[in-house]
Amino acid sequence: MRLLLVEDERRLAHALRRGLTGDGFVVEVAGDGVTGLELARHGDFDAVVLDVMLPRLSGFEVVQALRSEENWVPVLMLSARAGERDQADGLDYGADDYLTKPFSYVVLLARLRALLRRSPQARPAVLTAGDVRLDPSTRQVTVDGVAVALTPREFGLLEYLLRRPGRVVTKIELLDHVWDAPDDVNPNAVEVYVGYLRRKLGRRLVETVRGAGYRLET
Ligand code: CA
Repeated sequence: MRLLLVEDERRLAHALRRGLTGDGFVVEVAGDGVTGLELARHGDFDAVVLDVMLPRLSGFEVVQALRSEENWVPVLMLSARAGERDQADGLDYGADDYLTKPFSYVVLLARLRALLRRSPQARPAVLTAGDVRLDPSTRQVTVDGVAVALTPREFGLLEYLLRRPGRVVTKIELLDHVWDAPDDVNPNAVEVYVGYLRRKLGRRLVETVRGAGYRLET
């Protein structure tokens, strides 16, 4: 899952990025509202974590602009203070949820996952393909009811494919959405990780579509 984090407090942004990356998200950070809005418009993100008090354009203005353009990317706002007005405003402008600073990372993660589950794309709570089952909320993967341990990268790759059953997904798309630094990653890494998944989950799960990419067997 690709996340956009719009936060001008560099230490907080850095800490959140590190935590979320460790939990298998691909995180891009913007330090002001204008950059955040630009990225949210064109970056194909699965969710946006948006601070309210930002340089150049406030979080309210960012979410309002996105909604006026009919961009329904799930938005979790980080409100600056425990003012009731702040929170109501955020929801009025079209945010999906809000957290008041300071918040615990665990709570942020839980809210984010809830948001991804109920986003407009109607993502199912548990993803399945054949006898493979992935639960995004518990991060558990089972094959025929037996738990399988996956690394965060393998998990991210499987989740991305499971959310696009039957569709051909290109290597570039996988590098963008599953790897953190696509420019530095050798495209062969995708092949290597698909190989890992096949070894752990069954050879027939991910089909290679020659010259195009991969497709999940449904
Ligand atoms: Ca701020």
